[in-house]
Amino acid sequence: MGVSDEKSAFQKAAEQAKAVIPTHGGLTVNLKCGILSEVYLEEGILDLIDAVDLADKEADRTARLLAYLIFHEWMHNKLDALEGASVDIHNSGGGGLAEIELKNVQKTSPDDILTKVNIKLMSAALGKSRPQCTARLT
Ligand SMILES: [Zn+2]
Repeated sequence: MGVSDEKSAFQKAAEQAKAVIPTHGGLTVNLKCGILSEVYLEEGILDLIDAVDLADKEADRTARLLAYLIFHEWMHNKLDALEGASVDIHNSGGGGLAEIELKNVQKTSPDDILTKVNIKLMSAALGKSRPQCTARLT
């Protein structure tokens, strides 16, 4: 499978994912070349800032949203992208940043966004190697 085939496989997965959940904000796919994660700051996604934000500065809010989206895809990358993974972050990732949509996050405190379960799962996975697809990095 060449780079263009991998690109098409990722684009197909992205289109399918966006059709189901347009405001997921990213995608992680396990391709033949390895795991590939992307996040999207596009129309509809930026509206999530109000849904998830606890900060009060506009610049901080966009950066925070981007960090949340990256952390979410990073959770997929480390915890459930490989076949046979024991965790499905949307269902058993501890809520917060593992929620399928950031607008579902309860935000009464910062602990509701980055939850104790999110931290526990990710701290256990940080040292685990995952094959990464770098074919689209140019
Ligand atoms: Zn997700």
